[in-house]
Amino acid sequence: MDPKELREFMVRTQLVPMGIKDERLLNAMKKVPRHLFVEESKRHEAYGDTALSIGEGQTISQPYMVAVMTELLELKGDEKVLEIGTGSGYQTAILSELAKEVYTIERVAVLAQRTEERFHSLGYDNIYVRVGDGTLGWPGDAPFDRIIITAGTPRVPDPLMEQLSDDGILVAPVGDRFSQQLLKIRKHKGGPLEEYHTPCVFVPLIGKYGWQGED
Ligand code: SAM
Repeated sequence: MDPKELREFMVRTQLVPMGIKDERLLNAMKKVPRHLFVEESKRHEAYGDTALSIGEGQTISQPYMVAVMTELLELKGDEKVLEIGTGSGYQTAILSELAKEVYTIERVAVLAQRTEERFHSLGYDNIYVRVGDGTLGWPGDAPFDRIIITAGTPRVPDPLMEQLSDDGILVAPVGDRFSQQLLKIRKHKGGPLEEYHTPCVFVPLIGKYGWQGED
């Protein structure tokens, strides 16, 4: 099968049976070439139902996890999205297909640089990349209609809640160092509305309002 057929197979055999319904999202996952977001030696595994190493001790998330987090964001196409944890840039590319603009922060400079080059070579022009501690957010361009954290965190960082628009949605894996659950928060005048979803395991969010240090 060629990569396009493999993507269609991934959508048909993994994402749809696991309950992903948003047609725009399923089409984006059929379109974005996940095999170009992993090292050449791992390309043959790119459309499997797993996370993969991207070097620097980090991972590209399992396709289902990318899909479920994106679906929780309820994107319609005109949103300004902040992503914390660029990693390979695959999740960023999916967001860029579904929203107006994506601002993404990665703390590991070499990953951010590699990923930015990838966005240029693939022609994504609505993505802004920054190196730094994403737990502080991106105050100069706030507020954001949607915020997604793609690393495991003990709590939702306060600066990110402050930088979320009224009625905006934030999705994050919240829990301990080795297991989390997806938390969806809708910012609401009467107080945030919180729902817990799928259990998950992410690499740690390391920063001022996440986990401290590497251990
Ligand atoms: N969404 C990514 C993808 O599709 O490849 C996967 C992200 S990976 C699971 C988590 C990323 O979060 C890693 O690249 C890690 O370096 C980054 N990270 C951890 N703490 C961070 C922080 N405070 N600010 C920004 N990035 C952070």
